[in-house]
Amino acid sequence: MAKILIVEDEEEIAMLERDYLEIEGFQADILSDGDQGERAALTGEYDLILLDLMLPGRSGYEVCRRIRDQIDVPILMVTARTESVDKIRGLGLGADDYISKPFDPAELVARVKAHLSRYQRLTGGRGEEDGAIQIGDLRILPQSWKVLKGEQEIKMPNREFALLKFLAENPNIVFSKERLFEAIWGYDYMGDSATVTVHVGRIRDKIEDDPAHPKIIETVWGAGYRLNRP
Ligand code: CA
Repeated sequence: MAKILIVEDEEEIAMLERDYLEIEGFQADILSDGDQGERAALTGEYDLILLDLMLPGRSGYEVCRRIRDQIDVPILMVTARTESVDKIRGLGLGADDYISKPFDPAELVARVKAHLSRYQRLTGGRGEEDGAIQIGDLRILPQSWKVLKGEQEIKMPNREFALLKFLAENPNIVFSKERLFEAIWGYDYMGDSATVTVHVGRIRDKIEDDPAHPKIIETVWGAGYRLNRP
């Protein structure tokens, strides 16, 4: 099920948009402020952003540019009647489409669907895979053995992936290096717990925002490692 973020400060319009999207089977979250909207959009959790132009906090112009600079997600800009769509389009904000208020809800839903399917064709679809694990902007897909940070796929050899998957499927539990070694490499494998340290280091370099100060896989001194998942 596609997840849509509605950034809109007029409650009535936001609710109308959400109602129509939910009828069509989409999941929709509403935020009423530009700053919050931008932060939520950048988590990479959403498949499409419905963005109002005039917002408190940070304007839709600014939010659109900043999202576009960092991730590739369809953005539909919703503009007030007084703002000419052609004029706004001319600003080159990088939005995928523009719709002006008041809009016909059926038209809005049709455009949302069109952009979602276009985007899924382009990217091969993020797919709503069973058992997908989301940690901030990190997405682990256990069935297809893929890891995504935002929209970017992270290349990970099998043992690294298996270790990350094991920790992510058993979050907030501290595992000793020995226990992790057994779980991933097995008793018979040549090697020792130092192998785990090396692999955790490599995984952190790929998934942590600041590998020197890891927030996802934390070291618990004298005990082992713990993957933090809210
Ligand atoms: Ca507004």
